[in-house]
Amino acid sequence: VFESARGFVFDLDGCVWNGNTLSPGVADTLGRLHRAGRGIAFLTNNSRATAAEILRRLHALGITLAEHALTPLEIIGTVIAQRFGRSRVLVIGAPEMAAVVAGAGHEVVGVERQQEATVLALGNDFDLSFERLAAACRVAARTGALVTPNVDARLPVENGDFLPGCGALVAAVAAAAGVAPIVVGKPEPPLFGIALERLRVRADQAVMVGDSVPSDMRGARRVGMRTALYAPDGVAASGEADVVIRSFDDLRRLAGV
Ligand SMILES: [Mg+2]
Repeated sequence: VFESARGFVFDLDGCVWNGNTLSPGVADTLGRLHRAGRGIAFLTNNSRATAAEILRRLHALGITLAEHALTPLEIIGTVIAQRFGRSRVLVIGAPEMAAVVAGAGHEVVGVERQQEATVLALGNDFDLSFERLAAACRVAARTGALVTPNVDARLPVENGDFLPGCGALVAAVAAAAGVAPIVVGKPEPPLFGIALERLRVRADQAVMVGDSVPSDMRGARRVGMRTALYAPDGVAASGEADVVIRSFDDLRRLAGV
């Protein structure tokens, strides 16, 4: 079914890898796709890593053919500027997110200056404290401006385990503040569009491979891409993807490589 597809866009967490462990067959399938001239891009909702960091992690795991990696950090500063102009932003999240927000021309303020913030940028925050959570809630409630890389509820890690995802924090803040989030990453269209541009393929020539129905499958379908739901445990909702694959070997066969 994917013999004619010219580009493949892969989700990372829970698909290509879990934590620092590649899924079985990833290296072989990606190598075969690459040698067959198919384009490959990685599209993650990671709120704590830039594209360069993602490529470094892939290379360390032996995936050296990766050229295109996209994360919401690529465009979060631009999204804030388009919606709110140059802003004073309380960043609750990773230092990498604060750096890209500042790099886009905004002023980043800390919790001690939360009264001055005009926008809240909320990512997964491994240093979350009640003080930081409270500041996030207050800024979102006062400004109505809650911008987040993603609303994924869980971050899959090794051995079928998980960490709370960015979306779990967003749900807490949105509930307390009574504000709906502006989502930068999947399932919103912009990052899918950038991935297609980088691969120089039309949406209908590209396949999105991922483990999340709400972020990967629905987002890809909205932009007209074809979809492969990665469900290694075999549990998958029918009708949410063009195909359900249980392994990267399945994908290799479907792609005819
Ligand atoms: Mg995933």
